[in-house]
Amino acid sequence: MQQQLIKSEKLKAVEQMGAAISHEIRNPLTAASGFVQLLQDDYLPRQKRKEYLSIVKDELLSAEKVIQDYLTFAKPDIGKLEEINVKSELRQIISILQPLANQNSVEILTDFSIIGYIRGDKQKFRQCFVNIIKNAIESMPNGGHLTIFTKFSQSVVTIVIEDTGEGMTNEQLAQLGEPFYSTKGKNGTGLGLMVVYGIVRAMNGTIRVNSELGAGTSFHITFPTISSIRKKS
Ligand code: ADP
Ligand code: MG
Repeated sequence: MQQQLIKSEKLKAVEQMGAAISHEIRNPLTAASGFVQLLQDDYLPRQKRKEYLSIVKDELLSAEKVIQDYLTFAKPDIGKLEEINVKSELRQIISILQPLANQNSVEILTDFSIIGYIRGDKQKFRQCFVNIIKNAIESMPNGGHLTIFTKFSQSVVTIVIEDTGEGMTNEQLAQLGEPFYSTKGKNGTGLGLMVVYGIVRAMNGTIRVNSELGAGTSFHITFPTISSIRKKS
């Protein structure tokens, strides 16, 4: 009974996201192909040609952003379960995002002293933390510190992602995870955290967020561990 309920909730979430993403991708693609059609006019003035090409580029970029935020959750297979080494996965994710951090003069500090394992879908785990860490970096356009550390207790691991960025008001905090909620205008999709919340829920995890306007934000994501801690080199 309980199991069935969870499954139908997951399916509902996937359907909702599927509808959201196809809408969010179709719009910019339709716009882009409209301007490509206009560009086929041989007599189009040079200035117009430049203008239209730049619109096409923007629209394609916007479709790409949606796919980036959504990427793995769009996959039809739900819940391929593997053992996830939290520390080594986080290290990989950080190396993917290091160039973005460098661009924003963000220094990344980590502390993963203890080795721990959770069970879940590796790709979704990656998607989840890419989205959270990307937001943290984007909240510090003029540089700052990003601290990522893990805390293990007997049966859970908590992954903490702390930034010294712009922070949020309580009203903003309350809207996190809502589809299309974004304060980034055309640079945002408002899908990143919706995907995060969906993945964490599907992996039996929880999310807590603390934030202070002008001071920074911390995300605390907790998952059950497999057999707490294993000693491995
Ligand atoms: P997007 O990044 O495309 O705007 P997200 O769903 O990833 O969409 O995030 C939604 C909104 O949550 C962001 O636009 C931002 O306002 C807020 N947010 C998320 N993470 C942070 C953070 N670390 N610091 C400040 N604001 C954040
Ligand atoms: Mg985002």
